[in-house]
Amino acid sequence: MTPQENSKITGIPVSPGIIFGKARVIDRSRVKILYQYLISERQVNLEVDRFKEALAATKEHIVTLRGRMPEPLKAHGFILDTHLMILDDGMLDDSTVRTILDEKINAEWALKKSVHGIRQLFDQIEDEYIRERINDVENVAQRILRNLAGKEPPSLAELDERVIIVAHDLSPVDTSEMNIGKVMGFITDVGGRTSHTAIMAQALKIPAVIGLESATSSIPDGTLLIVDGNTGEVIINPDDETIIAYQEKQLAHEKHESSIIRLSHLPAETTDGRRVVVKANIEFLEEVAVALDHGAEGIGLYRTEFLFLRSKEPPSEEEMFEDYKEVAEIIAPKPVTIRTLDLGGDKFSSALPLGEEMNPALGLRAIRFSLKEKKVFRRQLRAILRASAFGHVRLMFPMISGVQEVLDARTILADVMKELDRDGLSFDPAISVGIMIEIPSAVTVADILARHVDFFSIGTNDLIQYALAIDRINEHVAYMYQPFHPAILRMIRQTLEAARANGVDVSLCGEMAGDPLCAPILVGLGIQELSMNAGSIPAIKNVIRTLSAQKAEALLEGVFRRGTSQEVREFILQRKGQEEQEAALPAAS
Ligand code: PEP
Ligand code: MG
Repeated sequence: MTPQENSKITGIPVSPGIIFGKARVIDRSRVKILYQYLISERQVNLEVDRFKEALAATKEHIVTLRGRMPEPLKAHGFILDTHLMILDDGMLDDSTVRTILDEKINAEWALKKSVHGIRQLFDQIEDEYIRERINDVENVAQRILRNLAGKEPPSLAELDERVIIVAHDLSPVDTSEMNIGKVMGFITDVGGRTSHTAIMAQALKIPAVIGLESATSSIPDGTLLIVDGNTGEVIINPDDETIIAYQEKQLAHEKHESSIIRLSHLPAETTDGRRVVVKANIEFLEEVAVALDHGAEGIGLYRTEFLFLRSKEPPSEEEMFEDYKEVAEIIAPKPVTIRTLDLGGDKFSSALPLGEEMNPALGLRAIRFSLKEKKVFRRQLRAILRASAFGHVRLMFPMISGVQEVLDARTILADVMKELDRDGLSFDPAISVGIMIEIPSAVTVADILARHVDFFSIGTNDLIQYALAIDRINEHVAYMYQPFHPAILRMIRQTLEAARANGVDVSLCGEMAGDPLCAPILVGLGIQELSMNAGSIPAIKNVIRTLSAQKAEALLEGVFRRGTSQEVREFILQRKGQEEQEAALPAAS
């Protein structure tokens, strides 16, 4: 049945762009367990063997796919590695075998029970990225179920025309099987912003909308679709008028994209010639290319937690080294600032011994953890130093509260350098060493800290948390998360003054860096460098280009006279409005 013209469903846009094309509905609906049956004592061992065989067949299939991964997805091979890890780790294996033995039920039923148990554990995890990894477990389980049923799903390698893939969900295995050249975009029923479908679509630079709930049930195979990866809209069976309207939108989008990309590669320089360096914050190696595309002049903050969060085992020195080296090489000759581990607080890893704490934000976090778990710290320092031989690497310590921590960290660093020398491994002996200024005590002693480091990076996310005593992940106090709070602005000013007096460079890498309304204050205060998520770079560069550094400096007198965050904000908005009006007036003759 042809669906009604112009019916529309809306989901989460995860990869931008507008496409028109034919739907290819992938019926990979979950394998239904038709039979749930009890088995006799005699059959138990046979059932365990049947399960183990299905497990082995699944593993073999994934290993084969890993070897055949299309070029643009090679960087995402870790996703298939995750699947192999799930198979190897025993999580599914042990509990399913135990259930078969204890409850004497068939393998399919036992496997389903295991997945249910694992899902309940994952549901309690706060971190969205980790919570969503349950999808990997389910993908693997689906494949084992298919192998138990003795049927492999239809291959996606045989796509013979360009299509839009419509699926319930797309596992990395599905994606790696596809003839990517024929795929115009993805739409799926399920998935979150950090799901692999999203990551894959971004890597392939094809539009994608996920979480549509009813895509597979409301779109017959072969239907014409419009997918708007910017807004999340999917138009099913569009009429001519709608097609023309979306073609115009597509043109406007492409024009806007190309103008942003074009301008984002220009430097951010005020109208009176003050340069501000704009860099990107990244969390994964894969984001470096996106950062460069958006005009980043380097990586101002590489958060290194995610290698630790991705797996159950802490990464080895080699794994970290390979990862950091690749970032350094891709971004070179531009610099990358690699921050040592900042686990704790809201970022937990099962790979490391982080105990449960009453106040994790005030607990064994970041540099405190590194200074306690010296082995982990030294391993990471070795990896960072070794990577410094392959590009322009800077090293940064998070959560510094005072001078002693810097001295302790530097002592270990010096020792690790000696060790590398002894091992005959190269590194940059003059590597710049900096610290995050994100605890109020560090602001107070910034002048002393400045004598021991090469640069500061102001982390306003935590600085606001600790200065205003608000938990940054507690929604009840989110209203107090105020970058314009006079206390925060004074702390930024104090840090910049201490740095200037002592000749150290300062960057600002909290979310505030990417807020266009904060830019005039930061430029007025003389910030030399901002680092932010890549998506904000074009807009911030653009704002800086419209500012005069002199006028921004003059603005500060009014800013620092205001007593509340609200007043500062209104003052900035009012000044902005005034300047826009003046700019619109014809010049006085
Ligand atoms: C910050 O605290 O501002 C910061 C940039 O670091 P993170 O968000 O990783 O704590
Ligand atoms: Mg921080």
